[in-house]
Amino acid sequence: MGVRVDLRAAAALSRQAAGDDALVIASVGPTGILLLLGDVTGEQLYDAFKVQVEALAAGGADAICIETMQDIEEAQIAVRAARENTALPVLCTFSFELTVKGEYRTMMGVGPAEAAQAVHAAGAAVVGTNCGNGMERMIPIVREIRAALPDVPILVHANAGLPRLVGGVDVFSDSPEDMARLAPAVVAAGATIVGGCCGTTPAHIAAIRRALGR
Ligand SMILES: [Zn+2]
Repeated sequence: MGVRVDLRAAAALSRQAAGDDALVIASVGPTGILLLLGDVTGEQLYDAFKVQVEALAAGGADAICIETMQDIEEAQIAVRAARENTALPVLCTFSFELTVKGEYRTMMGVGPAEAAQAVHAAGAAVVGTNCGNGMERMIPIVREIRAALPDVPILVHANAGLPRLVGGVDVFSDSPEDMARLAPAVVAAGATIVGGCCGTTPAHIAAIRRALGR
């Protein structure tokens, strides 16, 4: 119950701050509990996502973004929970890492095309990738998704470069200008919506916006 109240308030505060000319896209991350290991059932996961998305919708969110996903099944359950319990559009993005073979895979071994197709089939209106990589590595990931889904909007939230641990704190390498310089290439690869994840600041977003001219 406490969670429900807090998420609703968070969405309501965001809605109030956004005013009339910006959208509030409410973020929902993975549970961190693995279906694969049998630590949780699909039904329990569905219920956990249902509580979250209902609260975010009640607070006035304009859309739900299921993000930082690793597991196709969990992502599909989250998308279904949002689709079946709110009237909001649903976006869904996965985080990929570059493997030693030079392929992009989630922690669960899923590639960009497979992941995007699965959540699009589950009802996500927008698919894509967030976190785990800076702008540069988002370019090949977006290309793979665009090749698999020619007509579906693609969302990219890149980190401000790859984090380095300095004094126990993640430090991100890319300046606003670094991210902005690469943003047009991410769009050329097929991205529809471009923004920032870990390490990005309002200055990064402003620079990306200027670089894209829209
Ligand atoms: Zn992130």
